[in-house]
Amino acid sequence: MIGPRLHSGSDLNDNIRPVTTLPADAALHPLTTLAEDERLLRDSIREFAHAQVRPLVSEMDEQAKIPRALIDQLFDLGVMGIEIPEALGGSGGRFFHAVLAVEELSRVDPSVGVLVDVQNTLVANALLRWGSVDLKARVLPKLASKSVGAYALSEAGSGSDAFALQTRAREDGDHYRLDGRKLWITNAHEADFFIVFANLNPEAGYRGITAFIVERGMPGFTIGKKEDKLGIRASSTCELLLEHCRVPKANVLGEAGKGYKVAIETLNEGRIGIGAQMLGLAAGALEHAIRYTKERHQFGKAIADFQGVQFQLARAATEVEAARLLVYNAARLRDLNEPFLTEAAMCKIYASEVAEHVASLAVNLFGGYGFVKDYPVEKLYRDAKIGQIYEGTSNLQLQTIAKQILS
Ligand SMILES: Cc1cc2nc3c(=O)[nH]c(=O)nc-3n(C[C@H](O)[C@H](O)[C@H](O)COP(=O)(O)OP(=O)(O)OC[C@H]3O[C@@H](n4cnc5c(N)ncnc54)[C@H](O)[C@@H]3O)c2cc1C
Repeated sequence: MIGPRLHSGSDLNDNIRPVTTLPADAALHPLTTLAEDERLLRDSIREFAHAQVRPLVSEMDEQAKIPRALIDQLFDLGVMGIEIPEALGGSGGRFFHAVLAVEELSRVDPSVGVLVDVQNTLVANALLRWGSVDLKARVLPKLASKSVGAYALSEAGSGSDAFALQTRAREDGDHYRLDGRKLWITNAHEADFFIVFANLNPEAGYRGITAFIVERGMPGFTIGKKEDKLGIRASSTCELLLEHCRVPKANVLGEAGKGYKVAIETLNEGRIGIGAQMLGLAAGALEHAIRYTKERHQFGKAIADFQGVQFQLARAATEVEAARLLVYNAARLRDLNEPFLTEAAMCKIYASEVAEHVASLAVNLFGGYGFVKDYPVEKLYRDAKIGQIYEGTSNLQLQTIAKQILS
């Protein structure tokens, strides 16, 4: 493993998130100043992204696939189990470390960023919070060392209205039988473990929703069609088919009928990860724009010498910094066990808008070269769009923020 092991102090039976201790003079620390362990992690991932991911970006986009060899390197780097305790083979880090990893990888490729994001902020996170001791012991060491995870809530008829899901679970001896279809599931092509939400008691409405760990290869479980997407093309997005899929009762995640809580609470945290993905994308697009405008000459000088261009870059840099403050603040609040619901929604909506704007500006500043696949910003522009859609659309984030500020 290249990345440092990050001690969190949590263990197998620890259902409570690790609490960061702030130094006595914490009030004097800028939000973006990184602790030594954070800086080491960021630098090692930055180096990895530059050396190992960057050369593959356009091929992965074209082939709509992340090579298994790269995924194995991500496991070796320690970024696939950031919050998983060291005793279970993970890196023993905090949520903030996961956010840094997603930001750095997304700076180079937001598809690799979201693979790592879903693995950490949704799948491992939910298991750490709600998994039984047995489930944690069985699944977490695999998630930390070789198995990809996926999170399956959405269906064809239920996206924003997620609790209207139609997948049914029925008791069947020491098993549950799952029937239904999930749509849009990130990492599904690569994953071995899937958190699947199904309703055990539709008469009880959302209080029947239950979370299950479904494993690749379980009878009645098939990975369906892979989507052909506008952006983050290398990240797999597939349908899941559950036909009398028998899942052992031991694979229920949390309590039966409490899956709605698992879903809401995990997604509240997950959207900070999407904020980090969009922040990384925006920072990457800005770097490309700065480099290019200093090299490209028109009218006898570098286009970065024109004040009109300088002001556009300055505004973009300001937006990226503001997005970083929102994302880091939400992540640090989460690690401190402080309320972060509003801040998480704000960081996701803002960072995704900044990503779209800065990637669009980068395309403009590259001129014709920005419009073709030989240069990196065309892809980042396509990749940016998803930030306003998944893990709660922008309208749903606004709904959350409005509810909080008006209550
Ligand atoms: C690439 C990709 C990856 C994804 N990965 C996953 C995954 O891993 N797991 C998973 O479970 N899901 C995943 N999703 C699904 C994603 O979370 C949903 O697409 C998203 O929540 C929106 O749902 P929908 O597509 O059904 O749109 P809809 O809910 O139909 O929304 C359509 C439009 O209506 C608006 N709207 C809906 N309700 C309201 C309202 N009350 N007020 C105002 N406006 C409203 C929305 O904002 C949106 O603009 C993924 C989707 C994509 C495209």
